[in-house]
Amino acid sequence: MSGPLFTECSEQCGIHIWADKFLVEILDPETGEPVPDGESGELVITTLTKEALPLIRYRVRDLTRKLSEPCRCGRTHPRITRISGRSDDMIIVRGINVFPGQIESVLMKIPEVGNHFMIIVDRIGPLDSIKVQIEMHESAFSDKMSDMMALKKKISGALKSVLSLAVEVELVEHGSLPRSEGKSKKVIDNRKI
Ligand SMILES: [Zn+2]
Repeated sequence: MSGPLFTECSEQCGIHIWADKFLVEILDPETGEPVPDGESGELVITTLTKEALPLIRYRVRDLTRKLSEPCRCGRTHPRITRISGRSDDMIIVRGINVFPGQIESVLMKIPEVGNHFMIIVDRIGPLDSIKVQIEMHESAFSDKMSDMMALKKKISGALKSVLSLAVEVELVEHGSLPRSEGKSKKVIDNRKI
C-alpha cells in the first residue's frame, strides 16, 4: 500500500514516510516532548510542500514508533511501525501508559479467553489499580478452582510482561459483561471524580 504520506516497506519492515514532503515527529501525548527512537508515541505531521492547506504539527492521534536502524529494503526514508492504537484511548496507571489495544492483543493469544473484556481503573488511597474483567471462552470454564487460578496466573503474567504493570485479573462467565459497540466503553476509569 502506498499513499501521499507514506509507502509500505517492500521488505515488510514497516512504513516509510516521504520525508521530502512531510516532517514526522513521534511525541509523548502527555508532555508533547519527542520520545526516543523505538518508543511508542503519537504521530505528529507537518507538511513541507503544501502551500494552500498546510498542516503544522498536526496530531494524528495514532500511536507508532520510529525505527532508526537502516532498512533492509535500502530506502533511507524515515520508517515507522504500523499504527498500534489511538492516543485518545490511552490510560495512565502509576505513570505507565496503557493502551486497551495492548491488553486486547495479549488476550487474543490466549485460547481460553473469549471475545469480551473490560478494563477497570481505580484509585485506592494514593495508588492506582488496574483490573481486567475477562470473559472466558464457553468451552474453557472449569469448576476446579485450581484450573481457574492457574489460568488467572497465566493471563496476569502475560499482561505484566507486555505492560510492565501488575494487573488484577478477574475471570467472569461467558456472556456476563455488557456488550457495546464502542471501543472506548471497554474502559471504566473510576479515578475521574
Ligand atoms: Zn524498508
